[in-house]
Amino acid sequence: MNETKKLLAVFQTEQKLRGLQSRLGAAERFLNEQERQLNALGEQHGSFESQLRQIQSSTKENEDEMARIDERMEKLREEMNNARTNKEYQAFLVEVNGLKIERGRVEEEVLGLLEQADAIKTELEQSVASQEERTKVRDVAKQDRDTRHSEIKDRVKELEAERDQLAGEVNPKILSELQRLLDERDEDAMAGIEIIDKKRHEISCASCMMTLPIELLSRLLSGDLTSCSNCGCFLYLDEDTAAALQPTAKR
Ligand SMILES: [Zn+2]
Repeated sequence: MNETKKLLAVFQTEQKLRGLQSRLGAAERFLNEQERQLNALGEQHGSFESQLRQIQSSTKENEDEMARIDERMEKLREEMNNARTNKEYQAFLVEVNGLKIERGRVEEEVLGLLEQADAIKTELEQSVASQEERTKVRDVAKQDRDTRHSEIKDRVKELEAERDQLAGEVNPKILSELQRLLDERDEDAMAGIEIIDKKRHEISCASCMMTLPIELLSRLLSGDLTSCSNCGCFLYLDEDTAAALQPTAKR
């Protein structure tokens, strides 16, 4: 096997690995998104609960205030019954009327608070339903992630071993160049060539589509490691293309 073929074998194994792992990666990202949404719902639920506690404590304060007003009014009515002068009676009456207005105001406040509490209770119920629903989606997502993980686990190990073995046969400098190209260009780290004009031996890089100088073709045909003069990816000749480029007589 020439250098190009050895490198291509590493590259193709790496591509298979990446393909497998990208499916797992997608499942993992989906699962993380579900966890994130579930946490957000939990936080929202907590905030509703604390709002409800505040409203309930304000309601309690206002109800206590109403009870105090009622007690005071009760006392004033007794005192009115025992009033000795009309002036005294009138003074009690003024106070009672003031308290009545105050009581009305507090009562209205309580009604408003009860309405708010009901609205938040509805929100809380909806929030519980959303959390249940999201939990189901999360559980399915987790199962899917785990299934995918166990499905590919053995194959990934196999491919990793295969890739490492193949990589061991390639010059380390070339290998690190391939690694750099994989990081930068992923599936475009290596590319085949396209024939533009067979007679004139005009070819282009299948990755960047730029026409390649004729010298590159002879390098490729001789099996020497060749990079695209334009985009820098490693080039290879697949068998069909190589055969197509051979003079008819030699076939
Ligand atoms: Zn190119």
